[in-house]
Amino acid sequence: MQTLERDSPGNGPDTQHEFSADDLRETLDEVGICTWSLEPATGRVTMSENCRHVLGVPARCLLDHDAFQAVVHPEDRTTRAAAIRGALERGGRYGVEYRVRQAGGRIRWVRSHGRAELGRDARPVRFRGVVYCIDEHRRAEARLQRMQADLIHVSRLSTMGEMASALAHELNQPLGAISNYAAACDVFLAEPGETQIAAARAALSAAAGQALRAGAIIRRLRDFVKRGETDRRIENVAGLLSDACALAFIGVREQGVDLRIEPGPPSICVLADRVQIQQVLINLIRNAHEAMHDSGRRELTITAAPTQDGMVRISVADTGPGIAASVAKTLFLPFVTTKPNGMGVGLSVSRSIVRAHGGDFWVDRVPGGGAVFHFTLPTVED
Ligand code: ADP
Repeated sequence: MQTLERDSPGNGPDTQHEFSADDLRETLDEVGICTWSLEPATGRVTMSENCRHVLGVPARCLLDHDAFQAVVHPEDRTTRAAAIRGALERGGRYGVEYRVRQAGGRIRWVRSHGRAELGRDARPVRFRGVVYCIDEHRRAEARLQRMQADLIHVSRLSTMGEMASALAHELNQPLGAISNYAAACDVFLAEPGETQIAAARAALSAAAGQALRAGAIIRRLRDFVKRGETDRRIENVAGLLSDACALAFIGVREQGVDLRIEPGPPSICVLADRVQIQQVLINLIRNAHEAMHDSGRRELTITAAPTQDGMVRISVADTGPGIAASVAKTLFLPFVTTKPNGMGVGLSVSRSIVRAHGGDFWVDRVPGGGAVFHFTLPTVED
């Protein structure tokens, strides 16, 4: 049974063990935290004994700022130096993560927190802090990122699987047209006069246009399903929307849905992974389309508008029945669905994509009936 601490003669303040500086040092060593101090006047660095254990580098290698910088990974030196300089100039705390190269060449991630105290003349008089290893944390983060990327990819493949028949239909149209133009050429060239040759050339050029159309559909599809590292570039929002909608609208237009796109000012740009934002839009457009299946009025409106706080808000509105009360509170959790064959991952994946881009994702009711999903992305200068 657990014994609770209580006031007793043996536990009173006069017999209580004072927590000394040695105790503190020992505790920090035990939990793997290395302490350091830098003497601002001389630039001398003092590291605690467990430095080798925590950083993999003996304390004697880290005698001053330059010696310390030499073991920091070259790509992280500027960030670390800037954090330290900032604290020394302004006083106060800093926190920075960087990699150190151990004696054997192994790389280790560490986090360093420090605090500089300034004297009356605004010069630093004291600068000290702690360093601890965050390798495990970084590994877990990388694992999580890989799992998220896998989920995003699987969800994309599953969407494409569901869209397969609409895609086949979309591809069949240009292929059918090419075949008709070829048959027409055959007829024109059977009795080649001037008029027939001109007509055959027109048919050939129309066939070439259809082949390009089929090629564009296939290219978009290939980009969409390929697995890749996140690839963020500066994208023009109007271009991003029209590109995303080209794929997302496949099979929607034919079902009597009125589509409207209002892309906002043509100059707005965001830093985004085009394929991932396409995925968010495809999820929202397909959900809206499915929601309006039994509605008398079927209108799908996509708008983009800049906001006051340097973001662009993209909204997908439909005239369906709105969000069912049974899922309203858990809508963005994975595996929440009201569809017999739904997976319930579209919205949760979309929200994590948007958040990873630094934006927000939410849903509103439309007063006359229907749902409107919004997401924001930070804008950048082109
Ligand atoms: P799935 O489409 O596989 O169900 P989602 O995560 O995309 O997965 O959607 C979860 C649920 O959210 C849907 O099952 C549906 O109940 C609801 N939902 C999503 N979009 C809409 C919408 N536009 N109108 C009404 N309900 C919606």
